[in-house]
This record gives sequence, structure tokens and C-alpha cells, in this order.
Amino acid sequence: MRIVLLGAPGSGKGTQAQRLINRYQVPQISTGDLLRAAVAAGTPLGLHAKATMDAGKLVDDGTMLGIIRERLGEPDCANGFILDGFPRTIPQADALTVLLEELGCPLEAVILMAVDSEQLFRRLTGRRTCKACGAVFNVYTAPPSVPPPCGGRCDSPDLFQRPDDSEATIGKRLEVYEGQTRPLVEYYSARGLLREVDAEGDIDVVTARLEAALA
Ligand code: AMP
Repeated sequence: MRIVLLGAPGSGKGTQAQRLINRYQVPQISTGDLLRAAVAAGTPLGLHAKATMDAGKLVDDGTMLGIIRERLGEPDCANGFILDGFPRTIPQADALTVLLEELGCPLEAVILMAVDSEQLFRRLTGRRTCKACGAVFNVYTAPPSVPPPCGGRCDSPDLFQRPDDSEATIGKRLEVYEGQTRPLVEYYSARGLLREVDAEGDIDVVTARLEAALA
């Protein structure tokens, strides 16, 4: 399986990717997670990306392509992957097409996760992550007393809010999505790869819709 999960910040790409990797036995490749790990480790990539991420803007295409090229070359991608957060611009999508052609494994589908903007804002402002195990909660829709999709690896969640989930930055991220990433809907639709899934409502129901779209 070689797919892209496409959708605005807060549309549930990461949460659903976590569920799909268990079912399809392919890795989730989240460029946001890769960048956050680089920031936490203080690598040159992290130092380069931090200010851009905190401002809710996109890291430059050249840097992102370097990251994705390296990651897709790792052995665990041999049977496929779920891309989460990449591509986010038309040049990234073009470069991905070329890269996958070179590797002889084109994309099979691009799933658009559709959520209305009011709902996105609520999901993003409510999002909290456990420092210890990385489990993601939502103070409105999935508070820590409810086991998270990861299976609740951690007994006592130590929660923090991502710096780019502050109200000020969320507006910028949604604006960037509309301007730079939404054009990919048309891009992949024109190539016959797009499948739209209603990503609102119960997490299990959304997973079932995704599985149906991928069947
Ligand atoms: P995410 O966790 O996917 O919401 O990504 C968090 C942040 O990482 C984004 O707001 C961007 O600053 C950066 N980022 C992640 N993926 C990309 C990408 N494909 N292109 C550019 N910037 C990205």
C-alpha cells in the first residue's frame, strides 16, 4: 500500500495513520513528526526548521524533499507507506511523483480527509500530546480518561500543547493549507488518485470509512 493522507491540520491524519499502519503493516511517514524529532534533538535540520514551524509556515521544499527521499529509501518502506503531511505543495507533489517513478512504485491513492473549518479549530486548540509516550488526546473530544488510539501506552499522561497549536498560529496554518496545500486536491483528482472521506465524527467510524475507501 502506497498512499497519501491529505487534509488540513487537525483533520486526523496522524490519528488515523496510526490505526492504518497496524492493519496494513506499512510505516506511517509523518514529516511533522520527523521535523519535531529533529527540533527536539537539536540537529542542524531542527535548528533550520524550528522558527518556521513555530510560525505555522511551511519548511522549504528543498529541505522537505531531502527528508522524504532519505526516509522512503529505508528498508521498512519496501512494502509501502502511509504519507502523513507530505506533500503539502505542488512542487513537493511533482517531486514525489518523480521519486516514486524512479523507485518503480507509484502512489496507489490519495485520501482527502474532509472536516469543516470550525471543527478543525476545535480539534487543534484541544489537542494535547503525552510527553512520555506520544499519545495524542483532545480535551474536548478524547480527554485522557479515554484510552487513546495508540492503546494507552502510558498510565499517567504528562500532557503538553504543541507550540504551533496556539490559537494565533492555528489561523496561519489553516491559511497556509488553503493557499498552498488545497490545490493538491485538484492535482490528484486530475490524476485519478483522489478519494474523499468524511473525517468528522467518531474515530472508529472514520477508520471504517478509510478502510472502505482503500478496499
Ligand atoms: P504537522 O505535524 O504535519 O502539522 O506539521 C507541523 C509543521 O511541520 C508544519 O506546520 C510545517 O511547518 C512543517 N511541515 C511538516 N510537513 C511539511 C511539509 N511537507 N512541507 C513543509 N513543511 C512541513
